[in-house]
Order: sequence, then structure tokens, then C-alpha cells
Amino acid sequence: MTNWKNYTRESRIAYFSMEIGLSADIPTYSGGLGILAGDTIKSAADLKLPMVAVTLASRKGYFRQVVDQEGWQKELPVDWKPESFMELLPTKVLVTIEERDVKVQAWLYRVKSPTGGEVPVLFLDTDIPGNVEQDRRITDHLYGGDLTYRLKQEIVLGIGGARALDALGFSIRKYHMNEGHASFLTLELLSRARRPIEETWDERAAWDTQHVLGQCVFTTHTPVEAGHDRFPYDMIQQIMGEPVPLTLLKELAGKNELNMTMLALNLSRYVNGVAKRHGEVSKSLFPGFEIHAITNGVHPFTWASPYFVTLFDKYIPSWAHEPELLVRVDNIPDEELWEAHCGAKAYLFQYIQETTGTEMDPDVLTIGFARRFATYKRGDLIFSDIERLTRMGEGKLQLVFGGKAHPKDIPGKQLIQKIIGQIKSLYPKIKIAYLENYNMDVAYRLLPGVDLWLNNPIRPLEASGTSGMKAALNGVPNFSVLDGWWIEGHIEGVTGWSIGPPPEKNPSQENHSDEDANDLYDKLENLIMPMFYHDREAWIRVMKNAIGKNAYYFNTHVMMRRYVTEAYIR
Ligand SMILES: *Cc1c(COP(=O)(O)O)cnc(C)c1O
Repeated sequence: MTNWKNYTRESRIAYFSMEIGLSADIPTYSGGLGILAGDTIKSAADLKLPMVAVTLASRKGYFRQVVDQEGWQKELPVDWKPESFMELLPTKVLVTIEERDVKVQAWLYRVKSPTGGEVPVLFLDTDIPGNVEQDRRITDHLYGGDLTYRLKQEIVLGIGGARALDALGFSIRKYHMNEGHASFLTLELLSRARRPIEETWDERAAWDTQHVLGQCVFTTHTPVEAGHDRFPYDMIQQIMGEPVPLTLLKELAGKNELNMTMLALNLSRYVNGVAKRHGEVSKSLFPGFEIHAITNGVHPFTWASPYFVTLFDKYIPSWAHEPELLVRVDNIPDEELWEAHCGAKAYLFQYIQETTGTEMDPDVLTIGFARRFATYKRGDLIFSDIERLTRMGEGKLQLVFGGKAHPKDIPGKQLIQKIIGQIKSLYPKIKIAYLENYNMDVAYRLLPGVDLWLNNPIRPLEASGTSGMKAALNGVPNFSVLDGWWIEGHIEGVTGWSIGPPPEKNPSQENHSDEDANDLYDKLENLIMPMFYHDREAWIRVMKNAIGKNAYYFNTHVMMRRYVTEAYIR
């Protein structure tokens, strides 16, 4: 194994993310944000980009989900051992928390590509002898605990991360904040860029914000309020002290409370949303800032099922490193594409049988819906009119669900309970499975194995959505509300189908639920089911278009080339 010091030879782009999903064995992610971070780093390795990623060790993971007899989600800790996957780096750094010196160490994970590219990922960890017990727990639970716990985690991530890179000898040419959780790194950079007061005459001008601005890139990931961390200033002072003068901090991060998004916006020269629509929405949320858009993607090799890997290798060689080549999907014979899909479907149904005991029917149109169970994603929309659903779907529709609710999100847990309640009440007219503990492994089996991928969030709250891209890569067409990436990927009846009205000029957060549900039923009944059952050739055409017109573009290789040319080299 090469010495880790080799990584410090050339200057790198540092990618900071509270969560990273690299594999199901390293459970330091909760959903789309983390998987995107993992896919980003994998494509960076494939493309041999000089990057280094920084995240938290999250020793107890997010949580392992079990669902009890009543359909209620319970959370169990996931104990995983960094030492099974990573090497501990020798250098420790200190951060100040409640006036204590807290030691932070870093575990090195190497993301290696078959191209020979490698990207190091640092997992920061405070579980070190010498730290007091409560400080040793800071890097345990991803998104766990209360607001002070979150603040401490963000100090470790932003300030500890920047210090760790420095202490290990990394030279950093840009700092990329994947969401606002890492914004405190800007304060560390500000302190470093501080000029002597004699040179500048006044205290304010000693803080060289322009210098920091030029070093930072910020990607905002959600218009949902809860996704933007805010801390009261008295909590900040009590826990962090005053890393920069309070007047300056308030200028940068908000008058009344410290807003991590504002801090990142004010100290980054390049800011972007994660789909064209989300860029626009973010501009209206944060007036006065220039906000660009780089649409998310998925890592092709990670998300193609084994059946499709074989197929693509045969007909579209080099597709994994040049996913644009998927435009040539028409070289694949229809029967072989269908066979690969049936393989993926059988593989999923076997898993459903093993984990839930439900025997699904391979000939029945199967709809998948799995993602974090946040209420805005409306996981229960398809059950709006049970009578209609059973009338049109009896023996002709099957549903597969999966997804975790945040431990404190009671309405989210109620949604899961509601869906689980439908399993018994609709059986055997409509077979429904809910797969416990949705994670990267479950997603890898679930996504390619359904016939249609459903997404019906309240617009404009789905910033991008990436699970639909994973579906498309495996020839599974999307059936989705026009929000996030689907506004860009959707061609009606060609790449998949839309649900509900087109995006509004001035998006409100009205949920249009009746309109959306009606449209969902209408299209299923009149377009989608007839095509699936009576015109297999047309159906396979849509499957191919999902690959050739969606997956060839909505991948992290294309996305990273854009980050390099539009954000990093500036
Ligand atoms: C891709 C993925 C997500 C993201 O799903 P969205 O529909 O984009 O919200 C969440 N969880 C897991 C395990 C995933 O693989």
C-alpha cells in the first residue's frame, strides 16, 4: 500500500460533507445527500481528480431501522469498526469546545478506481482516551442528539477538518462545502487569513473575507427549512467562544441567529443548487446571491445491477468510465434488455420473499418507492383513493416500499405505519412489500428490480432526487412529479411520465395533492398499465430511453466535469 503522505504531494480540492455513503458497510449516511457525496468521490477517483474528502466517523451510524408489530419504526445503533476498513493517521488536532481542548483524530479510507485514480477520505473521530466522556461521543450518532450536539459535530467537521488537513500536510486549493454543515471551516480560514491590525488600521479590515471567498465553493441541497442549521448566538459563544469578533460573525451569518447557510453563502465565490429548478428556487430563498446550478448524478458502476453491468459490458464497452456512451443503448437487442430486467426483478423478488415472506408475481407491473420518509415526499400519495387503486390495480399492480424516518420525525413514522397498515388490508388484491432498513444494499437490489420508479414530492421541495437516476440507469422508467432533476430528464411518454401540473413560475409550497393523485391514477390506468401489458415493444423503447436519454447524462462523471470547469477552476 502506498504511503498516505503521497496524497499530500499535489494540492487538492477538499470536499467536506457531514455524511458520506461509500458502501452499506460504512453506515455514515442517512440518504441522498450522503450517497451523492460517496458517488462524487468515486467519480473523482475514476477521473483522477486531485481531491480529498472530509467527514465524520459516525461510529454508531445513522441507525438500523426495525419496524414493530404495530408498524412503528424503532431505531437501533449500528456499531461498526473504522479499523476494519481504514487506517488511523498519526496526527491529532485540537478544537475548543466549551473551553475544553478536544482531540480529533482521522481515519483514512482510500477510494480506489480501476482507472488507477485514488481519493483519500478522512473520517474524523473524537473517541480518544484523554477526551472527557461526553466529548468522546461527539462523533457517534449522525444527525443524533440535540442542537448543542449538532453544533459540536459541526465544529469538529468544519474547524477540526480544516485543521486536520493542515496538520497532515495537505495543501488545499479549494474547499467545497457539501451543504452548510461544514460552514465553520470558513471561520478557520478567516482566522488564518487575518492580517496584522497595524497594517490595516481597523479591526474589521483585519479579517480578509475576500481571501476566504476565493477559496470556497458551496453547494446547497434543499429548500426545506429543517435542512438549514441555525444556532442562537449565546449557544455559539458558550460552546465555541468567539472564533471571530461577534459583530463580524453577525454580518456574515445573520443578525439574530447564526445561520450556517448564510455563513457559507457569504464566504463562497461559487454557489450552486443541485438541479436547474433548485438553483432558481434557491435564488428566491436567498435574494442577492448569485446561485448557479449543477444537476446531481449517480456513480454508474455503483448503481448498475450485475445484470446490466454484463449487458453494458457486452454492447457498450467502457460505459462505466465514459457513461455518455450509453446514448448507444439501441445497440442492445430488445430481448436481452428485457431478460436482464427480468433477472433483476427475480433477484429483488427473492429478497422480498426472504425478508417479508411475501411472494410477488413476476408478471405483474411493480412500482417502487423508497427514500427517506420525510413528509414532503408524500409516500402515501398512491393510497389517496384506495377504492380506485384497488379497482384498477387488482391483480395488476404490486408495490414495494422502503425508507427510514428521522428518529424525531413523528409524522414521518406515521407515514410508514400507514403504508404498513395497507399491506394487510389490500392483500391479496394488491401485493405490497415494505423493506426494512433501506440502505445502499437494499437500494441496489430494489431499484433495478421494479418496473416503474415513483416519486411524488410536494414541489418545489425535491431539490434534485437521485434515486430516479439510479432507476433510469437500470432501464426503469420514472413516473414523477415535475420537480428536481426530472424537470430536466422528463420527455413525456418517451423517458417516462410526469405526475401533476408543470412547474409554476412562482412556486408556492401548495401540495396539489388531489390533482397529483388524480393524475397519478389516470396515467397509470390509461397509459402506463396498457403499455406494460399490451405493448411490450413500446415499453422496452421507454426503458431504453431511460438509459440513453437519462442515464447517459445524469451521472456523477458528467457532474464532476462540470464542478471542475465551473466551480473548482476559477
Ligand atoms: C439514492 C438513495 C437515496 C436518495 O433517494 P431520493 O429519491 O433521491 O431521495 C436515499 N437513500 C438511499 C439508500 C439511496 O440509495
